[in-house]
Amino acid sequence: MSKTLFEKIIAREIPATIFYEDEKVIAFKDVNPQAPTHVLIVPKKPVPRIAEAKPEDHDVLGHLLLKAAEVARQLGLNEKGYRLVINNGPDAGESVPHLHCHILGGRKMAWPPG
Ligand code: 5GP
Repeated sequence: MSKTLFEKIIAREIPATIFYEDEKVIAFKDVNPQAPTHVLIVPKKPVPRIAEAKPEDHDVLGHLLLKAAEVARQLGLNEKGYRLVINNGPDAGESVPHLHCHILGGRKMAWPPG
Protein backbone atom coordinates (compact mmCIF):
# COMPACT_ATOMS: atom_id res chain seq x y z
CA MET A 1 0.00 0.00 0.00
CA SER A 2 1.24 3.49 -0.79
CA LYS A 3 2.14 5.80 2.08
CA THR A 4 -0.25 8.49 3.23
CA LEU A 5 0.94 12.10 3.07
CA PHE A 6 1.47 12.07 6.81
CA GLU A 7 3.41 8.77 6.69
CA LYS A 8 5.74 10.56 4.26
CA ILE A 9 6.20 13.36 6.80
CA ILE A 10 6.86 10.75 9.52
CA ALA A 11 9.46 9.12 7.21
CA ARG A 12 11.03 12.57 6.51
CA GLU A 13 10.25 12.17 2.81
CA ILE A 14 8.29 15.45 2.97
CA PRO A 15 9.69 18.26 5.14
CA ALA A 16 7.69 19.65 8.05
CA THR A 17 8.29 21.76 11.13
CA ILE A 18 8.08 19.12 13.85
CA PHE A 19 7.21 20.17 17.41
CA TYR A 20 6.89 16.78 19.10
CA GLU A 21 7.47 13.12 18.28
CA ASP A 22 7.42 9.85 20.17
CA GLU A 23 6.87 6.22 19.21
CA LYS A 24 3.11 6.69 18.76
CA VAL A 25 2.47 10.24 17.53
CA ILE A 26 4.03 13.17 15.72
CA ALA A 27 3.04 16.86 15.86
CA PHE A 28 3.99 19.32 13.12
CA LYS A 29 2.99 22.74 11.77
CA ASP A 30 0.08 22.78 9.32
CA VAL A 31 1.32 23.93 5.90
CA ASN A 32 -1.79 26.15 5.44
CA PRO A 33 -2.38 27.60 8.91
CA GLN A 34 -5.90 28.73 9.83
CA ALA A 35 -4.82 30.42 13.08
CA PRO A 36 -1.59 31.99 14.40
CA THR A 37 -0.79 28.55 15.87
CA HIS A 38 -1.97 25.58 13.79
CA VAL A 39 -0.38 22.23 14.51
CA LEU A 40 -1.47 18.74 13.47
CA ILE A 41 -0.97 15.83 15.83
CA VAL A 42 -1.06 12.50 14.05
CA PRO A 43 -0.91 8.87 15.17
CA LYS A 44 1.94 7.06 13.43
CA LYS A 45 -0.46 4.19 12.79
CA PRO A 46 -2.33 5.24 9.63
CA VAL A 47 -5.91 4.96 10.90
CA PRO A 48 -7.79 6.66 8.02
CA ARG A 49 -10.28 8.57 10.16
CA ILE A 50 -11.85 8.42 13.62
CA ALA A 51 -14.91 6.56 12.28
CA GLU A 52 -12.59 3.68 11.35
CA ALA A 53 -10.70 3.50 14.63
CA LYS A 54 -10.85 0.07 16.26
CA PRO A 55 -10.94 -1.05 19.90
CA GLU A 56 -7.21 -1.85 19.62
CA ASP A 57 -6.59 1.85 18.85
CA HIS A 58 -7.82 2.80 22.32
CA ASP A 59 -4.35 3.44 23.75
CA VAL A 60 -3.03 5.44 20.82
CA LEU A 61 -6.16 7.63 20.74
CA GLY A 62 -5.88 8.39 24.45
CA HIS A 63 -2.18 9.15 23.94
CA LEU A 64 -3.02 11.42 21.00
CA LEU A 65 -5.33 13.61 23.10
CA LEU A 66 -3.04 13.73 26.12
CA LYS A 67 -0.12 14.73 23.90
CA ALA A 68 -2.28 17.29 22.05
CA ALA A 69 -2.84 19.00 25.40
CA GLU A 70 0.88 18.78 26.22
CA VAL A 71 1.90 20.24 22.85
CA ALA A 72 -0.68 23.04 23.24
CA ARG A 73 0.77 23.83 26.68
CA GLN A 74 4.31 23.87 25.28
CA LEU A 75 3.18 26.22 22.51
CA GLY A 76 1.89 28.66 25.13
CA LEU A 77 -1.80 28.17 24.36
CA ASN A 78 -2.99 27.14 27.81
CA GLU A 79 -3.74 30.53 29.26
CA LYS A 80 -6.03 31.87 26.52
CA GLY A 81 -7.25 28.51 25.25
CA TYR A 82 -7.23 26.58 22.01
CA ARG A 83 -9.39 24.32 19.91
CA LEU A 84 -8.85 20.67 18.98
CA VAL A 85 -10.58 19.58 15.76
CA ILE A 86 -10.92 16.19 14.06
CA ASN A 87 -12.58 16.33 10.64
CA ASN A 88 -14.28 13.08 9.66
CA GLY A 89 -15.51 12.67 6.08
CA PRO A 90 -16.52 15.04 3.29
CA ASP A 91 -19.09 17.17 5.14
CA ALA A 92 -16.48 17.95 7.79
CA GLY A 93 -13.88 18.91 5.17
CA GLU A 94 -11.51 15.99 5.75
CA SER A 95 -8.82 16.18 3.07
CA VAL A 96 -6.07 13.82 4.25
CA PRO A 97 -7.19 10.22 4.93
CA HIS A 98 -4.81 9.69 7.86
CA LEU A 99 -6.34 10.52 11.24
CA HIS A 100 -5.13 13.83 12.66
CA CYS A 101 -6.17 16.29 15.30
CA HIS A 102 -5.81 20.00 14.57
CA ILE A 103 -4.50 22.17 17.43
CA LEU A 104 -5.64 25.73 16.73
CA GLY A 105 -4.88 28.75 18.86
CA GLY A 106 -3.62 32.31 19.07
CA ARG A 107 -6.91 33.94 18.12
CA LYS A 108 -10.53 33.96 19.27
CA MET A 109 -12.47 31.08 17.68
CA ALA A 110 -16.03 31.42 16.39
CA TRP A 111 -18.84 29.11 17.42
CA PRO A 112 -20.61 27.44 15.70
CA PRO A 113 -17.71 26.54 13.38
CA GLY A 114 -18.20 27.35 9.69
P1 5GP B 1 -8.17 17.94 7.12
O1 5GP B 1 -8.77 18.91 6.13
O2 5GP B 1 -8.02 16.56 6.51
O3 5GP B 1 -8.83 17.92 8.46
O4 5GP B 1 -6.72 18.49 7.43
C1 5GP B 1 -5.61 18.25 6.63
C2 5GP B 1 -4.61 19.32 6.92
O5 5GP B 1 -3.37 18.92 6.39
C3 5GP B 1 -4.95 20.67 6.30
O6 5GP B 1 -5.09 21.64 7.33
C4 5GP B 1 -3.77 20.97 5.41
O7 5GP B 1 -3.37 22.32 5.41
C5 5GP B 1 -2.69 20.07 5.97
N1 5GP B 1 -1.70 19.65 4.99
C6 5GP B 1 -1.95 19.20 3.74
N2 5GP B 1 -0.79 18.88 3.13
C7 5GP B 1 0.19 19.14 4.01
C8 5GP B 1 1.62 19.02 3.93
O8 5GP B 1 2.22 18.58 2.94
N3 5GP B 1 2.32 19.39 5.04
C9 5GP B 1 1.70 19.86 6.17
N4 5GP B 1 2.50 20.19 7.18
N5 5GP B 1 0.36 19.98 6.27
C10 5GP B 1 -0.38 19.63 5.20
